[in-house]
Amino acid sequence: MILVRAPNSAIDQAALICRVIEACRNVVAEHETHLCDLDRAIGDGDHGTNMRRGLEALAAESRQLAAMPVSEAMIAAGTILVMSIGGAAGPLYGTLLMEIGKGLAAEPLPAKFPDVFQQAVAAVARRGKSSPGEKTLLDVLYPFSAAMIRGAPLQHLAEKAQGFADRTIDMKAMRGRASFLGERSVGHMDPGAASCALLCQTVCRELAQAGAA
Ligand code: ADP
Ligand code: MG
Repeated sequence: MILVRAPNSAIDQAALICRVIEACRNVVAEHETHLCDLDRAIGDGDHGTNMRRGLEALAAESRQLAAMPVSEAMIAAGTILVMSIGGAAGPLYGTLLMEIGKGLAAEPLPAKFPDVFQQAVAAVARRGKSSPGEKTLLDVLYPFSAAMIRGAPLQHLAEKAQGFADRTIDMKAMRGRASFLGERSVGHMDPGAASCALLCQTVCRELAQAGAA
């Protein structure tokens, strides 16, 4: 799957990059309050605001990003997210995109994308010194990546993402601010997992609509 496979021309690809960014910006804006509410329950209440700021910054640069080769665009987009989301999530989302960009530069073949994504998720885990099962956005990224490696189609990946975030409700937070709550974090969905599910779902739907596999 992914950007490099869908379009038939550089123009299609640029338009697709703009559409994906716009869709991500919209879904985060729609869910800003919800993401802040989730973060208020187990953190400091700013996750929705942080993510909206990040996606607004990305949208402001979408034309410039769309004019770049996909690998360079991903690295540039990751840098923008690190600087604009801030908090704990900024460097993690930024690492994901930057590592995908580096991976695509080395492995531009679309068939290799699941491996590139898996490596990028591993880099996020190293950056956060965290593992799946610790109630973070990695609890979406890991199973999402595993499903991609198994060859799941985009529509299936989109449908699965929210379920991965739901599973964090029963987990005890081991990383980030929520970890200060210990057992009291159980019973709440992790805000980073929630935003990650929304974004994964949105990207997959946009790519599926554009005719990617
Ligand atoms: P902050 O905690 O600095 O206010 P945000 O509220 O924007 O930042 O993001 C919080 C989210 O970041 C959490 O819900 C969690 O998913 C993710 N997170 C925090 N620390 C880590 C970590 N060490 N590893 C992976 N994810 C983390
Ligand atoms: Mg927060």
